[in-house]
Amino acid sequence: MAKTDFDVIVVGGGNAAICAALSAREQGARVLIMERAPEEARGGNSSYTAGTIRFAYDSQEEIYKLVPDLTAEEKANTDFGTYTEERYFDDLYRVTQYRTNPDLAEVLIKNSNAAVHWLRKQGVRLVPRYGTHAPNIGGKFKFSSGSTLGAAGAGRGLVESLYAAVKRAGVDVYYNAAVKRLIHDDSGVHGVEARIDGKTRQLSSSAVVLACGGFQANAEWRTRYLGFGWDLAKVRGTRYNTGDGIRMALEIGAQPYGNWSGAHAVGWDLNAPPYGDINVGDGFTKNSYHRGIIVNSEGRRFLDEGADFRNFTYAKYGKIILAQPGQFAWQIFDSKVFDLLGPLYHMKQMTKVSANTLDELADKLDGVNKEQFLKTMAEYNAAVQQDVPFNPSIKDGRGTQGLAIPKSNWANTICDGPFEAYAVTCGITFTFGGLRISTKAEIIDVEDRPIPGLYGAGELVGGIFFFNYPGGSGLTNGTVFGRIAGTNAAGYGK
Ligand SMILES: Cc1cc2nc3c(=O)[nH]c(=O)nc-3n(C[C@H](O)[C@H](O)[C@H](O)COP(=O)(O)OP(=O)(O)OC[C@H]3O[C@@H](n4cnc5c(N)ncnc54)[C@H](O)[C@@H]3O)c2cc1C
Repeated sequence: MAKTDFDVIVVGGGNAAICAALSAREQGARVLIMERAPEEARGGNSSYTAGTIRFAYDSQEEIYKLVPDLTAEEKANTDFGTYTEERYFDDLYRVTQYRTNPDLAEVLIKNSNAAVHWLRKQGVRLVPRYGTHAPNIGGKFKFSSGSTLGAAGAGRGLVESLYAAVKRAGVDVYYNAAVKRLIHDDSGVHGVEARIDGKTRQLSSSAVVLACGGFQANAEWRTRYLGFGWDLAKVRGTRYNTGDGIRMALEIGAQPYGNWSGAHAVGWDLNAPPYGDINVGDGFTKNSYHRGIIVNSEGRRFLDEGADFRNFTYAKYGKIILAQPGQFAWQIFDSKVFDLLGPLYHMKQMTKVSANTLDELADKLDGVNKEQFLKTMAEYNAAVQQDVPFNPSIKDGRGTQGLAIPKSNWANTICDGPFEAYAVTCGITFTFGGLRISTKAEIIDVEDRPIPGLYGAGELVGGIFFFNYPGGSGLTNGTVFGRIAGTNAAGYGK
């Protein structure tokens, strides 16, 4: 058999792709990463992330091992708790309304802990996600919802550490290399056709790993699959994830799978640019709505801000904001909760107004019906169950009584000036529908058989997330299935 250009070609340059490439290389394979973006924009959505990685762990000691540079003071001031596999299963099943593929979910969760240790071995430094995920209760930080650690330097830190590992491992990387088509015949996939620096080239390989993202940056596909109005969403991350990998695989008979009409989408600054700004990264996210309330242009509340920890609601609330008149909303807070809002409420690039009274604030809420807004505030304030103690580290049951749309936890009156309000719209993160893979990360065809030599990982895999998503699972997903895809792709054809 003629020698191929590479043993494994990995399509994509984000977390899933790099984890696949490094894992294939660990098996001794000759590996090429093909990244559509230029070098300075490499890393896909992964480089825009907050870097949070959800994984299962049974003890604080395990966190101490993963973060050996924790100071004695940090250890004394922090309750890392545990996040068991059982809890991860419960969270994933609950938020996906029990639709997650059980086999893929099991692989994801049971390999999540090993994935984080492996990332660390590749040179990714891990740090606790203080600030956003651990409220300070009586002088002690308490982690309680599974988003405990993240990459130092957030997404950029993660991606730079991984590319340093790629360099050390001797993996080739082509930038400006947009893969267009899979080379395929009845015996399977044998390489790719790509535009590299504007020139069409064919490269052969024993196996191909597709890890080139969802279709969130493709306005036409968004409208086609997610529905009316989705063309108007802002893209939180990379402009390069336009569904190419999904299209290429479908063209050779891969099976569409999962929640094609669903996407991860959040409340995102109203005036953020149309695609992510790498210098701001995750900064346009406004996820502390559970500390206050959200109103639309009619001056009405339209969702339960305290339904669950924000990690289990934020990814589905973007869609609801998109459905509001004018596709925007305002988050409202009073001075009682300012210190609970988290770091992303203190940056420069945001659409914010402040006032000393609610009446004055109402005048500043661009596009909002003032009369109804003041009525909503009065009704909300009167409905807060003030006899239930407020506790931000648990679902405290301090809700509202008698409102058509309740706030179920963490309800505080909003009446102590000064007041702040933040304008948000829908920012789409990634799409949930995609390709079907096996537990070995083989891409499955429409007859339920693996396509020989073709593997998939990351955002373009369907069947794991439906409707919603437990925060921090995207990176875990890419690392777990990227590692499996890379290892099996390297073994394929041997
Ligand atoms: C602002 C923001 C914050 C986030 N925060 C978190 C977080 O804290 N924790 C978490 O777990 N998840 C987070 N996510 C989600 C997370 O980014 C994704 O789930 C994850 O990074 C996806 O990894 P991936 O490798 O599949 O895709 P990506 O990292 O997007 O990589 C896809 C790659 O494919 C390349 N590509 C596309 N088309 C082609 C083609 N035709 N040929 C070659 N290459 C191609 C792209 O250029 C890119 O390099 C966040 C996302 C955003 C946008």
